[in-house]
Amino acid sequence: MKSLVIGAGVAGLVSALALAERGAKVTLVERAEELGGGASWLAGGMLAPFCEGESAPASVVAMGMGAIDWWDARVPGVVREGTLVVAPPRDLAEIDRFAARTKGHEPADEARVAALEPDLAGRFRKALFFAGEGHLDPRVAMRALAAQLHERGAEMLFGEDGERLAGQASVVVDCRGFAARPLLPDLRGVRGEMIRVRTREVALTRTVRFLHPRIPLYIVPRADGEFMIGATMIESADKGAVSARSAIEMLSAAYALHPAFGEAEVLEMSADVRPAYPDNEPRVEDRDGRIFVNGFYRHGFLLAPAFADRAAALAFERAGAFA
Ligand SMILES: Cc1cc2nc3c(=O)[nH]c(=O)nc-3n(C[C@H](O)[C@H](O)[C@H](O)COP(=O)(O)OP(=O)(O)OC[C@H]3O[C@@H](n4cnc5c(N)ncnc54)[C@H](O)[C@@H]3O)c2cc1C
Repeated sequence: MKSLVIGAGVAGLVSALALAERGAKVTLVERAEELGGGASWLAGGMLAPFCEGESAPASVVAMGMGAIDWWDARVPGVVREGTLVVAPPRDLAEIDRFAARTKGHEPADEARVAALEPDLAGRFRKALFFAGEGHLDPRVAMRALAAQLHERGAEMLFGEDGERLAGQASVVVDCRGFAARPLLPDLRGVRGEMIRVRTREVALTRTVRFLHPRIPLYIVPRADGEFMIGATMIESADKGAVSARSAIEMLSAAYALHPAFGEAEVLEMSADVRPAYPDNEPRVEDRDGRIFVNGFYRHGFLLAPAFADRAAALAFERAGAFA
């Protein structure tokens, strides 16, 4: 089967790999000149199904359960150290609210917080520890997937509009994220802003979520003293630069988590648009002669493996039907 995958974000890379692993001939075409043309490049890379259950439906939690194993088997640097959820001292009720809405956690008192993250010792009296969660660096993971596609003989074309090649494939899998809005009118954009910093004065092993009632924030540790601070959730399709207000809020929350973040070097501030359907759940849809894999909202890395598998199965069904 000759398949064309449009878009080299996490949805396209994982779908292309699912097709190649099943023996399809794959061409992956990306509009940008190199990896990193879309929202996936900016993601936290949290593989946190239980924490996401705070706001996501049970189906997202269930489908995200296999994600850590999927990624760990394929890309380097998956960290399986869980998630620590903390709250400012005056907002401890946030911990109880989060606990009531999620599963897979255990309470952590001040001593446990200190044992898990020594640099947070004495800062948080009450926390939740989600041992079964993890994270990855999206940029490392995406490069690793691209290398695997190459090894499997898939063709990757950059700086090319997928539409131009769509007529030449027996199956088109369209993974172009929010750029599919004109073809998928249900799709909306949810703006996400992130900041990447570097400091040697604080070390974290795992993702830390900070339950501030106004500015919920997470910090994901990366290699070499880097941290990704994220992320805003704004109902807007604006991809413009990070606003001063968002930067102030994210950096203030990081500073409240640990004052050493006040001295960190700011390496990057970026924004992009998460593609989302009205129910915030992804879809694999066979429509208008192609298979659309889209709507990953805030769960691209968490849910792409499960949905790519469905898309690949559908692609083979479709190719069979038209053979
Ligand atoms: C700040 C932030 C933090 C996030 N944190 C997390 C997280 O911790 N965990 C998690 O699971 N998810 C997270 N997400 C969500 C996740 O990033 C998205 O759900 C996911 O990136 C969507 O992936 P995608 O492949 O559908 O879209 P994209 O990554 O946007 O990829 C689409 C690609 O298609 C290309 N394209 C568009 N049009 C064409 C065309 N005509 N021809 C060829 N190529 C085309 C684009 O250039 C782009 O590279 C986060 C998102 C943001 C913004």
